[in-house]
Amino acid sequence: MIAPRPLVAGNWKMNGLRASVGELQKIIAGAKTLSMVELMVCPPATLIAQFAAAAAGSGVAIGGQDCHAQKSGAFTGDISAEMLKDAGATAVIVGHSERRRYHGETDAAVKAKAEAAQRAGLLPIICVGETRDQREAGKTLATVGTQLDGSLPGAADLAIAYEPVWAIGSGLTPQPKDVSEVHGLIRDRLRSHYGEKAEQVRILYGGSVTPANAGELLAVTNVNGALVGGASLKADDFLAIAAFYG
Ligand code: PEP
Repeated sequence: MIAPRPLVAGNWKMNGLRASVGELQKIIAGAKTLSMVELMVCPPATLIAQFAAAAAGSGVAIGGQDCHAQKSGAFTGDISAEMLKDAGATAVIVGHSERRRYHGETDAAVKAKAEAAQRAGLLPIICVGETRDQREAGKTLATVGTQLDGSLPGAADLAIAYEPVWAIGSGLTPQPKDVSEVHGLIRDRLRSHYGEKAEQVRILYGGSVTPANAGELLAVTNVNGALVGGASLKADDFLAIAAFYG
């Protein structure tokens, strides 16, 4: 079975103004020398249309950071997957730990969002990961398994991001053997949900990935790319991470 093309996606979170398109342009220029990896930038929703226009034809994909489960309606402040698609996105992050924490998103809500993304023709990138307490209590695999069982949609057109909550924005990262264990569990769960199609699902690692640690984290079996937060805001760092794949 041929391994899927790796994906390195940048989650800009609530950062970026229209002038930030310069950073995207640097990423687009750098992407020309990286043929083995797909690059994606997930800016705030306000920038998606502008970024999608700037990235058109470059091979750099643009994604959203969240979507509502419904197509449209009386949901003030929310954005549907169809709207993201219409603005030029091809993917959307769902279930990021900051959404789960600050917006009370449950696994069922994440599943509904992932299904909405697929309905709109977007690739959902479903985030899972344990808290520090769960890791210290030896509950990492059980936590991630439960999140997957509750949030995986019916169809296999998706990516997973394993993001230990304690590693996000902290400068801390798991040991490669721990990443390997969790990504192995995720692959097994995907196989039991999707059969053979599970082999083509990209499982990204996320949490304090930098140019300095990308080599050891991305070399782990069943790691098919990265979801990068802070380091994705600087084109040079983002490209240096993606350069692992060449
Ligand atoms: C994230 O929030 O998805 C993330 C991976 O953040 P950071 O790389 O800054 O830890």
